[in-house]
Amino acid sequence: MPSLKGLGIQIGDTNRGLKLTASQVSPLRGSDVAKIKSFEFLRKDAIMPEATLQRTDAPTPLTALTEDEQLFRDTVRQFADESVRPHVKKMDEEGIFEHSLIDQFFQLGLMGIEVPEQYGGGAGTFFEAILAVEELSRVDPSAGVVVDVQNTLVNNALLRWTTEDQKKRYLPRMCKDTVGAYALSEAGSGSDAFALQCRAELKGSEYVLNGQKLWITNGKEAGVFILLATVDPTLGYKGITAFIVEKSFPGFTVGKKEDKLGIRASSTCELILEDCRVPKDNVLGEVGKGYKIAIETLNEGRIGIGAQMLGLARGAWEFAVKYAQERKQFGKPIADFQGIQFQIAQMATEIEAARMLLYNAARMKDAGMNFVKEAAMTKLYCSQVAERVASLCVEIYGGYGFTKDYPVEKFFRDSKIGKIYEGTSNMQLQTIAKLVMK
Ligand SMILES: Cc1cc2nc3c(=O)[nH]c(=O)nc-3n(C[C@H](O)[C@H](O)[C@H](O)COP(=O)(O)OP(=O)(O)OC[C@H]3O[C@@H](n4cnc5c(N)ncnc54)[C@H](O)[C@@H]3O)c2cc1C
Repeated sequence: MPSLKGLGIQIGDTNRGLKLTASQVSPLRGSDVAKIKSFEFLRKDAIMPEATLQRTDAPTPLTALTEDEQLFRDTVRQFADESVRPHVKKMDEEGIFEHSLIDQFFQLGLMGIEVPEQYGGGAGTFFEAILAVEELSRVDPSAGVVVDVQNTLVNNALLRWTTEDQKKRYLPRMCKDTVGAYALSEAGSGSDAFALQCRAELKGSEYVLNGQKLWITNGKEAGVFILLATVDPTLGYKGITAFIVEKSFPGFTVGKKEDKLGIRASSTCELILEDCRVPKDNVLGEVGKGYKIAIETLNEGRIGIGAQMLGLARGAWEFAVKYAQERKQFGKPIADFQGIQFQIAQMATEIEAARMLLYNAARMKDAGMNFVKEAAMTKLYCSQVAERVASLCVEIYGGYGFTKDYPVEKFFRDSKIGKIYEGTSNMQLQTIAKLVMK
């Protein structure tokens, strides 16, 4: 690990960053950031100020990052600013994710952050995966969710529930070149996920799957799907089983791609299973235990969506602050008016509160603590903050904020999904109520 101070970087000095491209670095590893080969310093405009770690003998504040985490975050931040940002507008207009960016996600090690090195991953922490999602989403929440689904849902399920043989077959691919997707929802089962109808029947050495999945993020790009189906509908949730399904399996088709309000570059697709043959060896975990896999995977996923929403709120806030300092009315920048200053301060406070919920939940997960309540609170609150902040940022831009010529209307559109997927806000409230009232 190089001494950051030796490189001239002050911990917490967010006006500086490392300049590097995906081709200049080896995959980022949690404890191996020394692999950065080339860098130069550059100034960044309007970065939200962050805490500076000054004492090491006091209890660590929630928002303080280790040197490794800070370098990891700065590297992803710079990559997002320099490599993702130029594509954001076009990707949103066309509703297509730039494929070369996915290649760069793999090169940077962002698609296998927590996967152990022996399978080709970064051997990092869940917290680092959260930092990556936050930083990418600050620039483009669609980029954030591609990396989020890969790490917090798919790799997470594969790491936790696979046999050694399955790990060897799938994890190296997930780190190298294969996008993953997580297929639970159907046309008739969203919040009531375990009412799913997709059938899996054992025939010899294969399961034959029939049915349809809806709303599947990464559906267009994915090569591997964690897919939930029932082996016996009469068993209710106890029939639900998770399968590792490959795009190339006979009888598997990716159907319609949704035309959406926000996160338009992130593909959301229907999946069609017509006598889709899945080897018995591709059951994930135990037959009939898919409900447990689904619930527990989504608990981690919710922290990831919190990170996406926090990054989004920061991205919108940073644009609005810069704009307020430049836009003049009544002969001075609108940022000089106390009314605008108070709005900026209120948003910064809510972002800070959301960040603390998020980082605490992620650290609890890494510490092996029960984090179900905190994950639900994180998703609930971060998505509320994202929507409020993005909306207010549109107002700070005035009429310009309402046009597609400026970036905040996209953040506002993108924010809406945070309250819907991976469990609607009502479902998060239901979980929280159950846990705080028991
Ligand atoms: C862009 C996008 C990407 C997605 N990606 C994925 C994915 O990758 N994988 C996947 O499996 N799914 C995915 N989904 C599906 C998503 O998780 C569901 O849309 C979500 O869970 C809500 O289900 P629903 O749409 O059927 O709404 P419904 O369940 O029909 O809910 C409609 C409304 O009723 C409320 N409601 C329902 N039940 C209750 C109750 N008991 N108490 C109070 N209120 C209630 C809800 O809060 C909501 O406001 C995605 C959806 C979208 C839009």
